[in-house]
Amino acid sequence: MHPGSLSEQYNVCGKPRCRCKDPKKPRRHGPYYQLGFTWRGKSTSRFVRPERVTEIRHKVENYKQFRELVNEWVDLSVELERATSKQRHGD
Ligand SMILES: [Zn+2]
Repeated sequence: MHPGSLSEQYNVCGKPRCRCKDPKKPRRHGPYYQLGFTWRGKSTSRFVRPERVTEIRHKVENYKQFRELVNEWVDLSVELERATSKQRHGD
């Protein structure tokens, strides 16, 4: 699994008269894939090679799902604690 999200980028290069600077129909270079994420307070982003995009997409999905499940678990735990302590006070 991996935190973050994948984004696609299209860039303009430095070459004169390149297709990316065509005055009528500019076609930028790309897509370039980038994985941006924040982990332990540190933000990072790195480029992902095209052949790894599918794998990384899966990892990002797995992480998202994992976090949702953990959040549900914590919700239930908090709710249980609340209900339990209420019950004890009621005795
Ligand atoms: Zn170009």
